[in-house]
Amino acid sequence: MVHKVVVIGSGPAGLTAALYAARANLAPVVIRGLQPGGLIATTSEVENYPGFPDAINGYDLAEKMEKQAGKFGTVYMDGIVEKVDLAQRPFKLYVDNGDVIEAETLVISTGASPRKLGVPGENELANRGVSYCAVCDGFFFKEKKLVVVGGGNSALDEGLFLTRFASEVTIVHRRDSLRADPVLETRANNNPKINFIWDTVVTKVLGTERVEGVMLKNIKTGEEMEYEAQGVFPYIGHIPNTALFVGQLDLDENGYIKSDGRTRTNIAGVFVAGDVEDHIYRQAITAAGTGCMAAMEASWFLDNLDGQSEGLGTW
Ligand code: NAP
Repeated sequence: MVHKVVVIGSGPAGLTAALYAARANLAPVVIRGLQPGGLIATTSEVENYPGFPDAINGYDLAEKMEKQAGKFGTVYMDGIVEKVDLAQRPFKLYVDNGDVIEAETLVISTGASPRKLGVPGENELANRGVSYCAVCDGFFFKEKKLVVVGGGNSALDEGLFLTRFASEVTIVHRRDSLRADPVLETRANNNPKINFIWDTVVTKVLGTERVEGVMLKNIKTGEEMEYEAQGVFPYIGHIPNTALFVGQLDLDENGYIKSDGRTRTNIAGVFVAGDVEDHIYRQAITAAGTGCMAAMEASWFLDNLDGQSEGLGTW
């Protein structure tokens, strides 16, 4: 069976694309991927998604989106796409369970994954004190000393969340000013459990069985010191999940999929939405917006398959 619309990825971009495609009677299939619900599902409090004045837990928001798209006929499939063939339509997706899915149009919303520190000890102590998900793992760090790395919204948001459990949260940032929104900076400054170490990077995660600390280096003075901690949470940005598409889709120098501003990629019928394309805004609401755009573009594309009308814009 050839599906009209297949969506890879189930964050706000993919689920919104599915919602719109389902309501256009296109019976979309969503392949959930490695992180069902996407990165938002690993986020503690979402305070800037319109419609939730009292904030909403990221996991709950993703669940509501999935339910809403499901209500209109979206079919969900658990699995990870291991290979794609975009050389001709229908496009072919090879899923890790052995299924081969065929699609007339594709919406790629594979998102981005947390960037690693890339220092000794990080991989060795993953899940033994090193975590990239405060919401998932914060509970295990009651009364512990934690290090959060980064100076963006994620570092501050998740650092603040971790103060619910930890005795102390130290935010280690490589510069002396934050990238995070002022509202979060104020909140962090007012939280007695949070302190900052500026102009500093983590050069090693220390510990044998579990994390026991980090080695820090001041990049201005070159001074190094051991710092005690039982947990390390790197929040230093993301890298786009585009390995699948190398050699088939046009990517920019950082690996993000290129689009024409209307979610269209260099291959007709393949659309892109969310963080896998967007390295500027990277918000749940902008991901949802581009998901909507991608579904509408896919629908217009399908209407024009016979070539009789170019509809809204030409390729
Ligand atoms: P981000 O804004 O890119 O910030 C990454 C931080 O990590 C920066 O402070 C950066 O330092 C630092 N960094 C990068 N590479 C590093 C390295 N190798 N070693 C040490 N530090 C490094 O990423 P993010 O905080 O994950 O946020 C991603 C997007 O999601 C943003 O658009 C953000 O606004 C959004 N977001 C919003 C909210 C919210 O509104 N509440 C919450 C979470 C995320 P420099 O500052 O020196 O570059």
